[in-house]
Amino acid sequence: MHIAVVGAGLAGLTVARQLQSQGHAVTVYEKSMGVSGRMSTRHTELGGFDHGAQYFTASSDRFKKEVADWKKFGWVVPWTTKLATLDAGTSKAAGKSSTRYVPVPGMSALGKQLAHGLDVRCEQQVTALEAHGKQWLLSIRSSEVPVAATAGPFDAVILAIPADQAEPLLSVVPAFAKQAKQARLSPCWTLMLGFQTSLELPYDGAWINNSRLGWIAHDDAKPLHRAGERWVCHATAAWSLEHLEDDDERVKEKLTKAFHEATGSWIQPIHAVVHRWRYAQAEKPVDADSLWNARQKIGVCGDWFAAGLEGAGRVENAFLSALALAKSIFE
Ligand SMILES: Cc1cc2nc3c(=O)[nH]c(=O)nc-3n(C[C@H](O)[C@H](O)[C@H](O)COP(=O)(O)OP(=O)(O)OC[C@H]3O[C@@H](n4cnc5c(N)ncnc54)[C@H](O)[C@@H]3O)c2cc1C
Repeated sequence: MHIAVVGAGLAGLTVARQLQSQGHAVTVYEKSMGVSGRMSTRHTELGGFDHGAQYFTASSDRFKKEVADWKKFGWVVPWTTKLATLDAGTSKAAGKSSTRYVPVPGMSALGKQLAHGLDVRCEQQVTALEAHGKQWLLSIRSSEVPVAATAGPFDAVILAIPADQAEPLLSVVPAFAKQAKQARLSPCWTLMLGFQTSLELPYDGAWINNSRLGWIAHDDAKPLHRAGERWVCHATAAWSLEHLEDDDERVKEKLTKAFHEATGSWIQPIHAVVHRWRYAQAEKPVDADSLWNARQKIGVCGDWFAAGLEGAGRVENAFLSALALAKSIFE
């Protein structure tokens, strides 16, 4: 079959690799300039900022096996570090948890590795799906071409994108659109701070209570990341939702103040940039592995499927959901 995969995040790349290895011809469409989706790194003169996913863990045997391979190839390494919980000026060391992994030299590096050998078309946003007999045509919007183009026909199409972005495309399969509508993703405002001197904080990452910020991480303290004093700060989902349409300057000011208050460090940053993730983490997952309609040959996967785990919205969900969908297609 010739299969179109929409989205080159971990789920899209994983399902594309699986299908290609089974002999299918696969074309991946990605609206951004590069692959990796929310496992992303913002490159700046000060070095990279992993401004989406911070790290990932592996709880299922299948994902543990995959991560062991990535580790063997040198694509990911364990991140053993000092983590804390901050609350009203006090800092408490965080308890032990399962191993945290980070791709090196930055979060987006894993997607770049996984994309090798795949036909990935970046800066190509899929805006509609149209049935064409037993096949599919895709409407594509590209920054290079001012008019919408049509791609296809494809024998099957897979959406590996956040639920909120999948829903409008799924009007062609109302039952799937309904599932996507129920699985909303919460937003996250992210602040990236760079400093000329070390802040000398006694931790490299911290969860924060009673603040606009929920998490901060010392990016250059991650293994094999470029040196420099860089901090990634994530606002809480509640604050991000309340301030979703605020302008960048206002958000930057509020979150920088929250960073100073939480850490007790008043050293001024030389770099401060915000990024709004409109769809960050799944709050209401779909209690399934993935969706596949064998008659219409359309499937959906991504981190908003529980895929056998407790909860969703993590890298592991995206991986397991993609594998499950590929398996449904083979059957
Ligand atoms: C701020 C933040 C912090 C996080 N922290 C963690 C963490 O610490 N640990 C963890 O495990 N997970 C974390 N996550 C979640 C993790 O990033 C995701 O679970 C995982 O990356 C999702 O992969 P995916 O392939 O399902 O989706 P995505 O990575 O979102 O990939 C979807 C891709 O589809 C593209 N796309 C969307 N619509 C279209 C279209 N119409 N046409 C073409 N392309 C399209 C997008 O540009 C994107 O590249 C975090 C996420 C965010 C945003």
